[in-house]
Amino acid sequence: MIDKRKFYINGTWVDPITKNDFDVIDPSNEQSYACISLGSKKDVDLAVSAAKKALVTWSQIDKIEKINLLENLLMIYKSRWDEITQTMSKEMGAPLDWSSSAQTSSGEDHIKDFILRLKNFKFETKFNNVSNNYIVYEPIGVCGLITPWNWPINQITLKVIPALAVGCTMILKPSEIAPLSGMLFAEIIHEAGFPEGVFNLINGDGAGVGTDLSTHSDIDMISFTGSTRAGKLISKNAADTIKRVCLELGGKGGNIIFSDSHPDAVRDGVRNIMSNSGQSCDAPTRMLVERSIYKRAIVEAADEANKIKVDIALKHGNHIGPVISQIQYDKIIDLIRSGINEGATLVAGGPEKPNGLEKGYFVKPTIFTDVTNDMRIAKEEIFGPVLSIIPFENEDEAVSIVNDTSYGLGNYVQTQDKEKAKRVARKFRSGGVYINGNSAEPGTPFGGYRQSGNGREGGDWGLEEYLEIKTICGWE
Ligand code: NAD
Repeated sequence: MIDKRKFYINGTWVDPITKNDFDVIDPSNEQSYACISLGSKKDVDLAVSAAKKALVTWSQIDKIEKINLLENLLMIYKSRWDEITQTMSKEMGAPLDWSSSAQTSSGEDHIKDFILRLKNFKFETKFNNVSNNYIVYEPIGVCGLITPWNWPINQITLKVIPALAVGCTMILKPSEIAPLSGMLFAEIIHEAGFPEGVFNLINGDGAGVGTDLSTHSDIDMISFTGSTRAGKLISKNAADTIKRVCLELGGKGGNIIFSDSHPDAVRDGVRNIMSNSGQSCDAPTRMLVERSIYKRAIVEAADEANKIKVDIALKHGNHIGPVISQIQYDKIIDLIRSGINEGATLVAGGPEKPNGLEKGYFVKPTIFTDVTNDMRIAKEEIFGPVLSIIPFENEDEAVSIVNDTSYGLGNYVQTQDKEKAKRVARKFRSGGVYINGNSAEPGTPFGGYRQSGNGREGGDWGLEEYLEIKTICGWE
């Protein structure tokens, strides 16, 4: 068993005040392989007081000094690439090659982009040329950063790096079920030489440390990525202290495939949802297919899903791994059964385990057709390798089905008619739109409409989340 029971507080690894061990499980074999501690209110108080003390100097530190430290961090991050990749692979089930090319590389992209943004960001500007008014951007203060397990390092770098860049101090609480990459990241921060108390890490669950951070009167902001369920609780818990709450939550993306789309559009859509074993917030989980190509799409979708190999994570290749946990596995299988019971047609996969993979949280790539938007599989975020295909007659109907959800994170459209693509993109009620398989550059804003959240991470928007804005009148 790997012993990871310490927390990183005030620049050093310390024992928790109260013993509360928690096992980390490898989803590929259901075995415990590491032990962490779940923190208490007293641990949170210690970390918050370290962060509050460090804020006094860190908030005033010179931009050049911060850039040097962040560049140092980037160098160390790259030197520990394989360790980061393997840690994520084992803790959350991302296959090795994909863990490296998508998960670990996302961290590098964010660190690089925020360094560039910081170099160019103007923290002070004159309001205009006729008044003596002056606008100053200042760090909001002590931040509580709460992250999920599905893109662990991606989410950590999207929060920690901009918070560091603008001069905030922080307490990170990674997901308790995939905490080890976050702890490795703390080691990298330490090695990079950030002053003590600027960055702190406490492990814990949502009901414990998550709530203690959300309610803490000395925390000025919570940045949270995770489920809409937890986002609602955090907002309520944070209300009494009027702290800023930035939320990046769930999704139920639609992918409209018009009859004039690229011949690979259906297959691409299937591979997109299945990657990360369906555990991405902006995955295109509802595929809307124009009626004239519906039959062809069903055959292609089933064929593509059947081609996808499922296997253990710590292996090279282009397979998909397990889903994260028993709870998540049970939820996905329950939703697959609900699809069958509600009358959708199962054309690939199903609730049984893939052959030869009885141990581990493995789910077959599953495709439902003849889905209607009122079925549970079309409404709820499944967070597994399950695609629902819905036929449509015309553009207005397709857009209205896509927008008929409580979420609004990422939507997709496939057509060779450029004007139609732009028209549809404008009509989508979501923070992101992906036309014909194009993807977002690092530094573009990422976030959701409606119950997908209220924040934007990445680029200048990501820096601004951690800033207060001050107007000074009478500046000469
Ligand atoms: P989760 O909400 O269960 O947990 C996320 C984090 O919140 C964990 O660290 C957990 O300990 C903590 N938490 C749980 N309850 C809490 C509470 N009451 N108070 C404070 N903290 C609490 O989510 P998850 O299962 O780890 O992650 C999957 C979810 O994350 C999906 O819904 C997915 O769509 C979403 N997600 C969203 C984005 C985005 O940018 N919009 C990105 C990745 C994942």
